[in-house]
Amino acid sequence: MSSASKGVAAVALVVAIVGGYLWGRSDERAGRVAPLTETASAKKAELDVYYPATESLGKNEMRVVALGTGMPSVRPKQAAACWLVELGNGEKFLFDIGSGCHERLAAQKIPYDLIDKVFIGHLHVDHMGDLPSFWLGGTVMNRLTPLRIWGPSGATPEYGTKHAMDLMEQMYVWDIGTRGGVIDFRGGQLDVTEFAFDGVNEVIYQKKGVTIRSIPAVHGLDGAVSFILEWNGLKFAYSSDTIPNKWWAEHTKGADISIHECFLPSVLLVTKQGFAPLEALNVGTQGHTSPEQFGKVMSATKPRLAVGYHFYNDFDTQPEVMRRVRKTYDGPLALAMDYMVFNVSKEEIRVRMSAVDEEIWPSPPMRKRNPPDTAKVIPFSDFTRSGAIAYPEVVQPIYDEINEIYDTDYEPVFK
Ligand SMILES: [Zn+2]
Ligand SMILES: [Zn+2]
Repeated sequence: MSSASKGVAAVALVVAIVGGYLWGRSDERAGRVAPLTETASAKKAELDVYYPATESLGKNEMRVVALGTGMPSVRPKQAAACWLVELGNGEKFLFDIGSGCHERLAAQKIPYDLIDKVFIGHLHVDHMGDLPSFWLGGTVMNRLTPLRIWGPSGATPEYGTKHAMDLMEQMYVWDIGTRGGVIDFRGGQLDVTEFAFDGVNEVIYQKKGVTIRSIPAVHGLDGAVSFILEWNGLKFAYSSDTIPNKWWAEHTKGADISIHECFLPSVLLVTKQGFAPLEALNVGTQGHTSPEQFGKVMSATKPRLAVGYHFYNDFDTQPEVMRRVRKTYDGPLALAMDYMVFNVSKEEIRVRMSAVDEEIWPSPPMRKRNPPDTAKVIPFSDFTRSGAIAYPEVVQPIYDEINEIYDTDYEPVFK
C-alpha cells in the first residue's frame, strides 16, 4: 500500500470508528437511554414542582398554597400574608389577602368565581392590602359572583371589618363609577360578614362539610383573630398575627397543618432592618411571635406539620430562625416562602414549590356575561367630553370589525 493509500485507509478507519461510535450513541439515545432519562426527570418534576391547573385534588385531600409569607413591606420574593386552602370537595378559601399577594393568587390559574370567600384575621395592611385589587380587579378577570368577606368586629364599631369594608367601598367610589355601566359588574358586589372578635372557637362558617371557627388573637388591638378550618377529618389552623395565647394553645392541638407567625429574631430586626433595640424587642416578642416562642407553641400543640411564616426568608435569616425554633421544638417543620404548596391527606403531607407562569390571563367566565347596564353610565361633563379627539377614521373600522364578527350594530360613544 502506498503511503497515500495508507493515509486514506487510516482516515477511513477513524471515520468508521467515530461514525460507529456516534451511530451507537444515537441508537442508544433513540432506543434505551433517552426514555429512561426523560422518565427520571419527569418523576423528579412530579415530586418537586406543582404546576397550577394541571393536578386535580384527591377527594379527601386538602391543598394549601402560600401566596404571601413576608412582611408589610412587600418585595419581589415575598408578598404579605395570604394563604389559599383548596379542598377535595371543590371549595376554596382565602385566609388574609395581604399586599402583593394578588399576582401570586392569579398564578394559581383559578377562575375568580371559585375564589369568592376571604377570611381576614385583622385589619393590618399586610393582611388585607390586596383586597381592593382582588375585588375590583377581579371584575375584569371574569368574576361574576359577589365577593364574600368574613372578618372580626373591633372594640367599637369603627374598628370592625364592616366599617372598614364600608369605607373601602366609599374610597373606591370613583373606580366603581367607571365600571358599572361599562362591564357586567356583578363581581363588584361585596357581601360582608362581621363576627365577634372575642368568640372562642365559635363557628363562623359551616357549609358542605366545612366548618370554620375563630379564636381571639393577641395582636395590635382588640379585634384580631386566628382561624381553624375543619373538613373531612383534616384540621387547618392559621394564626394570622398573634403572640402565643391560651386560645391557640387549647384549640389548635393536633392540627394536621398549623400555620403560625414566626417573626424575625429581634437582633436581626436591629441589624438588618434598622429597628432601635427597644422597638425590636417590642415588635419581635410582644407584638409578634419570635422563633423561640413559635417553637414553644408548636411543642405544646403538636401539629402533624408546623409552618412558620411572616419573616423575610433568606439564605442568611433562615438558618438563624431555624436554630432558634429548634431550641424549643423538634417536630415536623416548614419555614414558609411564597409559592410553597402543601398537599395534606390522612396518609401524608407533601411539600413542594409551585411553578409560576408570569403570563397570566383570566380564566374564561363561568357564567354568561350580561351586557353592561347602560343606565349606570355616569356621563362626562361637557368640559371633559369636549376634549376627546374621536379619530373616526380608525375607530369606526374597529367597530365595523366587531359588528361584522358578532352581528351587532354598536356605535362609538365619541364621534
Ligand atoms: Zn398584624
Ligand atoms: Zn402581619
